[in-house]
This record gives sequence, C-alpha cells and structure tokens, in this order.
Amino acid sequence: MSERIAIVTGAASGIGKAIATALVQNGDSVVIADIDQEQGWATATEIDGHFVQVDLLQPAACRRLVDETIDRYNRVDILVNNAGFQHIDPIDQFPLEVWKNMLAVMLTAPFLLTKYVWSSMQANAWGRIINIASIHGRVASPFKSGYVTAKHGLIGLTRTAALEGGQHGITVNAICPAYVKTPLVENQIADQTRTRQLSPQEVIEQVMLSPAAIKRLITSEEVAALVIYLCSEAAGVVTGADWVIDLGWTAR
Ligand code: NAD
Repeated sequence: MSERIAIVTGAASGIGKAIATALVQNGDSVVIADIDQEQGWATATEIDGHFVQVDLLQPAACRRLVDETIDRYNRVDILVNNAGFQHIDPIDQFPLEVWKNMLAVMLTAPFLLTKYVWSSMQANAWGRIINIASIHGRVASPFKSGYVTAKHGLIGLTRTAALEGGQHGITVNAICPAYVKTPLVENQIADQTRTRQLSPQEVIEQVMLSPAAIKRLITSEEVAALVIYLCSEAAGVVTGADWVIDLGWTAR
C-alpha cells in the first residue's frame, strides 16, 4: 500500500506525537486528533500532519473525527487510540465525574472510533487498530481505579475487535508500556526530587522503577517503533495481543 491514512488520538504531545511522527516518516498521512488546539497545531506544522481538534469525551466528536478524515482522504487505514490521562485518589474519594470521564476518553472513545472506521477498513480488506493501553491494563496499582479499569477494559475491547476483524483483514492489538519519558512523567520526577530529596536518577530507580529489571524510563520512540511494526505487512498475522513494554516489571 503506497499511502496509508492514519488517525492518532492524543497526538499533540508525548507518546502520540512520537507515533504520529514515526508514521509520517514511514510515508503515511496522519490526522493528529487532540483536545489541545495550540499544541495540536504546533505538532501538525512540525511534522506535516493534519490537525483536527476533538474532545473525545463527546461521542459526536468521535463521529466528526472519522467523517472529516474520510471526507478529506476517502479512507482510514490505521487507527491509534492513544489519548488518555491519569487521576490518583483512594476509591472512597475517587470523584464519580472523573471516573466517568476516564472511561469516556480511554474506553468509550476507542470503541466508537473503532466502530466508525470499521466500514472503511472492511471495504479495503485492510486495517490496523492499535490501542495504547498500559501495564495498568495487566496489573493494578492502588489509587488508580479509574485508569486501571479503563485500561483493563481496553484490552478486552482489543481482543473482541481482533476476533471480529480477522476475516476482514483488520488486525487489532494493544500496547502496554510501563513508565514512558513524556512531559507528564518528567514533571512527576521533578516533583519527587524536591519532596524526597533524591536525584532524578534515584527517583527513577528507587521510586518509579523498583519492580523493573531495566532501570530506565522507556522513550516514546520505543513505543512508536512497535506501532510501526504492528502497522507493517510483516505483522499481518499478529492480532488480539497485548504487547508488554514494561522493562521486565511483570516478569516476576
Ligand atoms: P500526554 O499527556 O503527554 O498526552 C496525552 C494527550 O491526550 C495530550 O495531548 C492530551 O491533550 C490528549 N487528550 C487528553 N484528553 C483528551 C480528550 N478528551 N480529547 C482529546 N485529546 C485528549 O500523555 P502520554 O504520556 O503521552 O500518554 C499517552 C497514552 O499513553 C495515554 O493513553 C496513557 O495512558 C498511555 N500511557 C502512558 C504512559 C507513561 O508513562 N507516560 C505509560 C503507559 C501508558
């Protein structure tokens, strides 16, 4: 396939931006979908993508994103469900509104976008759907009930869609990273150096990566490289899998 059309959600920064960049470098046309207008335009200009501003909380925005992509390019070949956010609170204090928003952005939006791109992929007998879950789609941590629930659900959606997509040439996979060096995590490191009186390296090794075999953060580019593989022809028989990139976290 010469030119493929990809939608990457949450592509204004972090992991999504790295995935969008890698796809553009691969020769694909990329729709950068994000709520952040300023950063979204900046990323689209920087990497030569096409920005569509969306709030994935809204089902109608999911519909509009796919419609606008098909209006512009006539097809969707690749969907990367990446947008997400974190909220930390004990269960008895976890706000219902935050819980609902987490499930809406990280579970319902991937479902709706999968539903809406399906007919285009089916018509072309080719599609790649990649869900950026998390190691918290496989294991839990305290105080992250909304995030852990949404990410576990996303793996269930991945497996179901993979079973339905096989006969149509559509593969569906999830990627489950541990800590990735994004602006979000870098801010957490800076905070912890102050509160714990540790060096940045000590925060990474002793606080964030204590269960990991490899004591460094993952880069966004390392996640993007796996996306490129999963979008390749070589990965045509790989589907329904949750790909762990966790520095050995869950090996024990
Ligand atoms: P990030 O905050 O840098 O990027 C997330 C992007 O999603 C932002 O650009 C944000 O504007 C966008 N977004 C948030 N809510 C949105 C909404 N309602 N509508 C549209 N866009 C919205 O974070 P990141 O670290 O790059 O995370 C990307 C994905 O990777 C998330 O799903 C996250 O759960 C997952 N992940 C991250 C890590 C990590 O350590 N950074 C580890 C495992 C999984």
